[in-house]
Amino acid sequence: MTSTSLRIGGMLVDYHRLCPRKAWWSMRGIWMEQESETVALGRLLDQSAYARSDKHLQVEAEAPDGTPLVGKIDRANLREGVLHETKKGRSCEDAHRWQVRFYLWLLHRNGIQRTDGSPFVGQLDYPLLRRTETVVLEDEHIAELERTVTALRQLATQDAPPQVLTKKSFCKKCAFEELCFA
Ligand code: SF4
Repeated sequence: MTSTSLRIGGMLVDYHRLCPRKAWWSMRGIWMEQESETVALGRLLDQSAYARSDKHLQVEAEAPDGTPLVGKIDRANLREGVLHETKKGRSCEDAHRWQVRFYLWLLHRNGIQRTDGSPFVGQLDYPLLRRTETVVLEDEHIAELERTVTALRQLATQDAPPQVLTKKSFCKKCAFEELCFA
C-alpha cells in the first residue's frame, strides 16, 4: 500500500492507538479470523441488545490533507444526535474512545450537527457489562486525529512493521500475537 491509496477507517484508528504494528498489518489486508469474529460478535451484541429505531450509518469525509476517511458506525440515533459503538469489554477503552471520536470528527468535517446546532456526541455501549460511556469531540481531539492521519500515512509507506511492543495485557487477545511473540 502507498500513502496515496490509503483510506482510513475507525478500526484502523483504534488499532493504531493500541499498537502501530497491528495497524500496519491491517493496512496490508491481513485481517485474521479472530479479529473478524470479534467484530461479528460486536454486531451480534448490538443487534440483540438495542432498539432497531437506530440506524447503521456509513460516513465519508476528507482529512485536511485530502486523505479519504470512512466510518461504519454501529448505530446512530439521528433524532437525538448520538453515535453508538458497541464493545464487548473495556480492556482497550482508550482506543475505543478514539474510534468514536474519529466518527464524530467525520460528522464535524461534513458540517453535520443536531437540529439545535449542537454537535453530535458518541456513546460506547458495553451490553455485557451493562455500562455506557459518553464520548465527546473537542479541539484537542481534532488536532490529535489530524496527527494520527499523518502518522498512518507515514506507516503506510513503511516496508516493515514497527517494532514489537513490550508484551501488553491486550496482546493476549490480539490475532497477531504469534507473529510477535512466537
Ligand atoms: S500481539 Fe501485541 S505487539 Fe503484536 S500486533 Fe498485537 S497488540 Fe501489537
